[in-house]
Amino acid sequence: MIRVENLVKSFGGFHAVDGATLEIAEGSITGLVGPNGAGKTTLFNCVAGVHAPTSGRVLMGGDDITGLPPHELFHLGLLRTFQIAHEFPTMTVRENLMMVPGGQTGESIWSAWTRRAAIREEERALAARADEVLDFLTVSHLADEKAGNLSGGQKKLLELGRTMMTEARIVFLDEVGAGVNRTLLGTIGDAIQRLNRERGYTFCMIEHDMDFIGRLCDPVIVMAEGRVLATGTMAEVKANEQVVEAYLGT
Ligand code: ADP
Repeated sequence: MIRVENLVKSFGGFHAVDGATLEIAEGSITGLVGPNGAGKTTLFNCVAGVHAPTSGRVLMGGDDITGLPPHELFHLGLLRTFQIAHEFPTMTVRENLMMVPGGQTGESIWSAWTRRAAIREEERALAARADEVLDFLTVSHLADEKAGNLSGGQKKLLELGRTMMTEARIVFLDEVGAGVNRTLLGTIGDAIQRLNRERGYTFCMIEHDMDFIGRLCDPVIVMAEGRVLATGTMAEVKANEQVVEAYLGT
């Protein structure tokens, strides 16, 4: 689904990503791991349109998407969780989910004036969809909670929920498990797995929690010093001597 070819991203003279080549298969939950400073976030940013790569290519289903800005990637169904606007703290969780970008009839004042009934209908449909998303994520009880009152982990779930309000096909998750308690981490992991199996989402996730990665991801891609060091199942990469060395060296 995604192929990254020989990607280089330099900051000044320093190659944060130094010729990385990797593939993300459609329907996979691909894990991206590696020691701090390995270039994982920079690679994510290059694929998701945050940075333009210095050289190399990013392909989506064979089409060259190198350097496309995030909003164009969004329309292709590629998004990165952090690129979705942060929550609106004084609005409820349901209202936050309803704030999906683009496409609403109510976007212009004039259409709002002339097409009130259509907008009300659209709002009802959006609210119903938001409730369905919350039900899927097993957090219906949070629908009327102000988003600002959510815990860090619940906000991550809300982020996942917002991807479900869009036409996402591949979602890049950056440390979705960081600072999240075990119970909620389990809920987030289940949601990722079910989105993958039942809704056909492809995921690529950076994560430090190896248990979480091991439970969810196949394959796991290990980066070090801006390059891909190994790709395989968690068991395979853990048994790889170069991988062990890269981790011990930091
Ligand atoms: P990881 O996500 O694997 O920890 P990063 O992609 O964040 O690694 O960083 C890789 C390297 O690139 C690090 O040495 C980091 O200091 C450097 N780096 C990242 N972003 C920038 C930037 N905007 N300017 C300069 N150096 C950067």
